[in-house]
Amino acid sequence: MAAYALVRSRRRRTLCLQINPSGAMRLLVPATTRQADIEAFLKAKAPWIERTLRRLNEAPRAPAFADGLSLRYLDETMRLRLDYRPGAPEVRRDGDLLCVAAADEGQARGALEFWYREASRHHALARIIHYAPLVGKAPKRIRIAGQKTRWGSCSPRGTISLNWRLMLVPADLFDYVIAHELCHLVAPHHRAPFWREMGRVMPDYEVRRLRLREIGTQLSL
Ligand SMILES: [Zn+2]
Repeated sequence: MAAYALVRSRRRRTLCLQINPSGAMRLLVPATTRQADIEAFLKAKAPWIERTLRRLNEAPRAPAFADGLSLRYLDETMRLRLDYRPGAPEVRRDGDLLCVAAADEGQARGALEFWYREASRHHALARIIHYAPLVGKAPKRIRIAGQKTRWGSCSPRGTISLNWRLMLVPADLFDYVIAHELCHLVAPHHRAPFWREMGRVMPDYEVRRLRLREIGTQLSL
């Protein structure tokens, strides 16, 4: 039996076992619970505990932020070259190497994100110039965002927000989000007229939409 922290509470009426993502267990029980009842409860829960701990062990961990880390850049892959040194941080691309010089990891991550944000702004502009004439509408403003949970959005005032992490997915999926948000300038909802417009602008949008959903929004970096 793995170790667990026992928490007795006068307000609690039932036994409850919690396992946090690091595998630590907490057993919450009513104040008067007898040791025998606790043991019986844990015995009944044993298969679930084992399953949960195994799943946590198998869960993929984000790759370490270290020299050699592979970084996606649309359809290309770059390798991170870290150089820790005092002074202002610097990011420079050299072929398929992305060289980041900074004082520490926090600064290096910040500089890398800033670099990706700039790259995403340039790329988004170029793709909007391509797709806006097809849709027949242009955004009033483009904003680069960094939420973990959404790729893009379009405000009623015509501002299109795009997640800089779109640089970490294939270019045709970045295009899907561009076309999607531009089509919202025509139809500000997800009803049939919107999807008709999507189909006109990007006939294979459905495949791209599913691929993007598979990638999810939980990209590390
Ligand atoms: Zn939408």
